[in-house]
Amino acid sequence: MKITAQQLREKYLNFFKSKNHTIIPSASLVPENDPSALFTNSGMFPLVPFLLGEKHPAGKRLANVQKCIRTVDIENVGDDTHCTFIEMLGNWSLGDYFKEDAIKWSFEFLTSSDYLNLSLDRLGFSVFAGDKDAPRDEESAEVWESLGVKAERIAYLPKGDNWWIAGQTGPCGPDTEMFYWIDDGTPAPDNFQKTKDDKRWVEIWNDVFMQFEKQADGKLVPLKQKSVDTGMGLDRVLAVLNGQKSVYDTELFDPMFQVLELDQEVMSNDEVRKARIVVDHIRAAVFIVGDGVEPSNKDRGYILRRLLRRAMVMGRLLNLKHHWLDAIIGKVVTTYAEAYQDLLDKSENIYSVILAEQKKFESTLEKGLKEFEKLIKQHSGVGAGFKPAPTEGSQLTGKDAFDLYQTYGFPWELTEELAVASGQKIKKTEFEAEFKKHQELSRTASIGQFKGGLASHSDKIVRLHTATHLMNAALRKVLGENVWQKGSNITEERTRFDFTHDRKMTPAEIAEVEMLVNQWIKMDLKVKKEIMPSDEARKLNAIGVFGEKYAQDVCIYTVYDEKTGEVISREFCGGPHVEHTGIIGKFKIQKEEASSSGIRRIKAIISN
Ligand code: ATP
Ligand code: MG
Repeated sequence: MKITAQQLREKYLNFFKSKNHTIIPSASLVPENDPSALFTNSGMFPLVPFLLGEKHPAGKRLANVQKCIRTVDIENVGDDTHCTFIEMLGNWSLGDYFKEDAIKWSFEFLTSSDYLNLSLDRLGFSVFAGDKDAPRDEESAEVWESLGVKAERIAYLPKGDNWWIAGQTGPCGPDTEMFYWIDDGTPAPDNFQKTKDDKRWVEIWNDVFMQFEKQADGKLVPLKQKSVDTGMGLDRVLAVLNGQKSVYDTELFDPMFQVLELDQEVMSNDEVRKARIVVDHIRAAVFIVGDGVEPSNKDRGYILRRLLRRAMVMGRLLNLKHHWLDAIIGKVVTTYAEAYQDLLDKSENIYSVILAEQKKFESTLEKGLKEFEKLIKQHSGVGAGFKPAPTEGSQLTGKDAFDLYQTYGFPWELTEELAVASGQKIKKTEFEAEFKKHQELSRTASIGQFKGGLASHSDKIVRLHTATHLMNAALRKVLGENVWQKGSNITEERTRFDFTHDRKMTPAEIAEVEMLVNQWIKMDLKVKKEIMPSDEARKLNAIGVFGEKYAQDVCIYTVYDEKTGEVISREFCGGPHVEHTGIIGKFKIQKEEASSSGIRRIKAIISN
């Protein structure tokens, strides 16, 4: 069946509309209030609070096309099936229908001649095999069989393949995945279980059934609200439907290859991989910039920078002609303009942000590549007449890679790529060791300055900061020691605090936390700062976000009762803090809400 990407999006949404689903818009690639991931990475991600029981304003049956970024797949880009930017077609039941309907509808959409009309002969299905914690998912298998799927086309797989859970605890359950045998002229093998590792079986859709809650003690208890979350990759299904071998052969990428004058048919495997990295990374970058991110050296900005710089290096290695980058940006925008009209409005900004990064990187890249060539020559002994010839097999070191990173901004992947292209092996562990050494030095330096994560050190912020430590201590007292800080952010107005906890706090718990904090404020406790070796701090049970375990000095803040010596709070922290809690003011929790699966978020204020 020949079908366009837009027709596929519409078919999917229309199908689920006909099953009484409400179509919701794609959320931004930048998660709203969710520190647990840098980018929206699945259709389910923005819906987590609703899958956990919050009421969704659009009802209990939802469907959409969601933009996603999957950084975990960066290394796989270049194969036939992985991209970093994907559109996920998804449908959800929030405590409404469950396995039977979900599977029936997946089957109908895939095989009905009104929809995708895929031949059952080429489809394989996997279900959860069961283990000591959770039963084999016979229910799903039975539904598939009742629809005409042959038993031997159903594979039973363990948790590693067919089980979903977001974190350590919380909602979880089995999933059932649908695979298509790529049309290479051969019929699909009869037995799916035995052949499932064959690359020609491509996963196209995944139905997840949230039916248990995993408790802190590891026990699974049935959930009251059972939910369904499904995700189908647009690029893969488009390739399958049009009889193409790879997502990179579809109309979503073809205009980009055309404008680059690259033909995958005649290129070497290595060139194809590089070219796919170029088109994939630029497509992802266009969408990321479209959602308001700019290149920088941290978090989202760093991922964006890494995608762009990697694409630029590949572009150079492929000798792409002048203005290749502008040309592909244009193709991405026009290819997606119908489905994402905002891209057109934002295109001017997208061009200027990406081209500015190119300009910035160009001269560095030039110098870095020269430096790299110099290093290679040294290691291979070529042109190093005044030096003793290096021993045979001399290789680039982790230090070389780190210097390239430090001076020229070459990410590890890039240096590795260049090294491999020059026939050199290079050890990632060595690079990481250099990286850690450097981090340690800079951390010691910043601890010397007593700087924490707070951008501004106004009086109000300092008071809120100490209040946050008290709240952390109170939460652990009221909710238990399973509470761990996951992030915090303080502005003049409020403190925002994310922490691990598997359910909503009750009004009584909130009141108790407020009462404890206000009591500690009234007691005018002393706040003491100390610098000590981290081992010692650990022995004192200091808590907080401290990361790696270096035998180096750390800064600890302790809030304690001078009269009794009782310690209320002891945290690893850069400060600054008030000296006495009495000056904090009155503490109040304004809001307690789900932040992401297993993570709660509190917003609290203080008043004089
Ligand atoms: P795979 O094991 O093939 O990487 P996955 O298990 O990571 O897939 P899911 O997380 O179940 O995939 O995502 C649901 C669907 O999204 C998949 O069935 C597939 O169609 C699509 N998909 C997932 N990752 C990618 C990717 N990197 N590029 C293109 N499509 C993808
Ligand atoms: Mg994957």
